[in-house]
Amino acid sequence: MKKLLFLFFCLFSLSLQAARIILDPGHGGKDEGARIGNVFEKKLTLRTAYLVKKELEALGHTVVLTRARDLYISLASRTEVASRRSGDLFVSLHYNSSKSGDAHGLEIYYYGKGDAARIELSRCLATTLIRTITGTTFCHSRGVKRGNFHVIRETTKMPAVLIEGGFLTNSKERTLLTTPAYLEKFARAVAEGVDEFVLKKFVLGAS
Ligand SMILES: [Zn+2]
Repeated sequence: MKKLLFLFFCLFSLSLQAARIILDPGHGGKDEGARIGNVFEKKLTLRTAYLVKKELEALGHTVVLTRARDLYISLASRTEVASRRSGDLFVSLHYNSSKSGDAHGLEIYYYGKGDAARIELSRCLATTLIRTITGTTFCHSRGVKRGNFHVIRETTKMPAVLIEGGFLTNSKERTLLTTPAYLEKFARAVAEGVDEFVLKKFVLGAS
């Protein structure tokens, strides 16, 4: 009987742990994002999204992509998808650019206004992600920041973050990000961060 109860508990925990994650590959179609030579931000964000999706699904989560191919969609459509598909959390994927070729590193944004609980959850998701990503890839952390981007501002019903995963204008980071093994490692770390956040917040209820 005890064994049976334990089994039920495990199954219950697992079902609670599974979340619906909205992944938003930045840019697409006519909106190329940053472009250095033949490296397009819009292609890299889509490639990353598919890798993260695979890892999250392996962990038992459901993933919805705001775009699944090289297609232009408006910012409003992205947040509309997130609401309509009842996401538990929202992660937008981008890569950075700067006038200075020296700028490098990872930064993660959340929106710091509105519902206090959502702000705190978004900040926690960002903090968890920056730890798992820098811990795995050893990239430089530029920190967790507040930002006023449409996709993290208008996804009001769920925690939301925007990841700037490195600078395409920095030749060293551009080389890394276009190396399949590095991008896989990066994507795995994003999935691990999301999974850890889901476990902490929705199962253990920790603050
Ligand atoms: Zn971008």
